[in-house]
Amino acid sequence: MEEKEVAERVRAELSEARFAHTQGVVDATTELARRFGANVQAARLAAWVHDIAREWPRERLLQAALRVEMPSGFALIPALLHGPIAAGLANEWFGVSDAVADAIRYHTTGRVGMSVLEKVVCLADAIERGRDYPGVNDIRAAALTDLNLALAMSFDSTIQYLLLKREPIFPLTVMARNEFWELTREVRE
Ligand code: FE
Ligand code: FE
Repeated sequence: MEEKEVAERVRAELSEARFAHTQGVVDATTELARRFGANVQAARLAAWVHDIAREWPRERLLQAALRVEMPSGFALIPALLHGPIAAGLANEWFGVSDAVADAIRYHTTGRVGMSVLEKVVCLADAIERGRDYPGVNDIRAAALTDLNLALAMSFDSTIQYLLLKREPIFPLTVMARNEFWELTREVRE
């Protein structure tokens, strides 16, 4: 399916605000993919689809979660379900590759051993032009030169936010965060 058709299908599924966020993620992903050497077409496709199930009511998410490949632990935190569900839909509706499906599946949580494609989509989601939270400009600045550092900072920001809100923290996100700081340390030393 052509990118334009995918975008139109996504538009039909989302509120105007969420679609604007998605467009921001597509643009940010394109920039990051060019800068850090990911397949631009694949990255854009993942970005278009990443939040396609983000506005589904909890019941529909829980129902759909039974039918898709769900990494262990995701089901314990409902806010994480929209990634794996979108990955399943991306496959069913648009026939995306496994690499693209993984970028969608892990866009919220990250994971250890992320591909460059997964990294650029995950980071773009956090720094697209519509995002405004404490420290976002520092992450944007890091993203100009160092993908791993920007992700390390971004995961710290997410974890800090969740701590303050007393929300659950997904263990794989902590592991991903540790790995990104480790990777940047290796470069600094
Ligand atoms: Fe999302
Ligand atoms: Fe998003």
